[in-house]
Amino acid sequence: MHPGRRQFLIGTAGFAVCAIAGAHGYSSTQAKTRIILLGTKGGPRVGEAGRSNPSTLILINDVPYLVDCGYGASKQLLTAGIALNRLRYVFITHHHSDHNLEVGPLIYNAWITGLPVHIDLYGPAGLRRMTRLFFAYERFDINTRIVDEGREDPRKLVSVHEFARAGMVLRNDAVKITSCQVRHPPISQAYAYRFDAKDRSVVISGDTAYAPQLAEFARGADVLIHEVMYLPGIEALLKRLPNAKRLRQHLMAAHTLPEDVGRIAAQAGVGTLVLSHFVPGDDPTITDEQWSEGVRKHFKGPIIVGKDLLEI
Ligand SMILES: [Zn+2]
Ligand SMILES: [Zn+2]
Repeated sequence: MHPGRRQFLIGTAGFAVCAIAGAHGYSSTQAKTRIILLGTKGGPRVGEAGRSNPSTLILINDVPYLVDCGYGASKQLLTAGIALNRLRYVFITHHHSDHNLEVGPLIYNAWITGLPVHIDLYGPAGLRRMTRLFFAYERFDINTRIVDEGREDPRKLVSVHEFARAGMVLRNDAVKITSCQVRHPPISQAYAYRFDAKDRSVVISGDTAYAPQLAEFARGADVLIHEVMYLPGIEALLKRLPNAKRLRQHLMAAHTLPEDVGRIAAQAGVGTLVLSHFVPGDDPTITDEQWSEGVRKHFKGPIIVGKDLLEI
């Protein structure tokens, strides 16, 4: 582990990480299934500093499974110590750009690093076209490098798997991955993912309003990573924006307030709740206590207020 990160973990989330170790009999460094939050800021705006755009890494037996690919995902993977040519599986929850903006560039970055085998890319309809259009966008460079530098054709190294309904996404010897349709209007093709590995189960909500089906989907999971929106912070943000009325309507219809995150976690009976995809994600005046106090009214288990590069 990066020495700076170890210090960071102890400093900011020591209690919660210990709680996981106590409940499951292993520490995060020994676990075969590791979770690293790469980007925890909800929304497409790129911040000058602070949280990076959404992306979550699950390492199962040291194989990276990446969920969502907001701007900065390549850089965050590298900072987390994952060489880009190790990229193997990428999952997109829905086609808002804070979740998919870097899909093409990440594949490109992996390729230029020396993509070893193959990338399998999973997500709702639109992903195949998006990938094809990215390769068209960089066609000149790609074709030049294939001839000039003797590289393989990256278009042959990526398989896109689109789906239009919830269910089994991928199953191999190490993990079963399933999806659940969540509530994120006006986008109907919005999914949560569940990873059932041998030692640990992890659910990532994706973007969603309060969705009772998600509690059912996440039932008994060791870890639920759920998006969260803080209303007083939203009101402060909206004061500065010309499209405030419409944006407020969207946020209220499509995202989840802390109390409802707590309800979902409690209904699901998850071991640990991790808050991520913070909206607003770039207001440093909102404290960890403010993010979690509404959640705690309903969920009595350990709550981790997510930070970029935090390992769980
Ligand atoms: Zn989002
Ligand atoms: Zn979204």
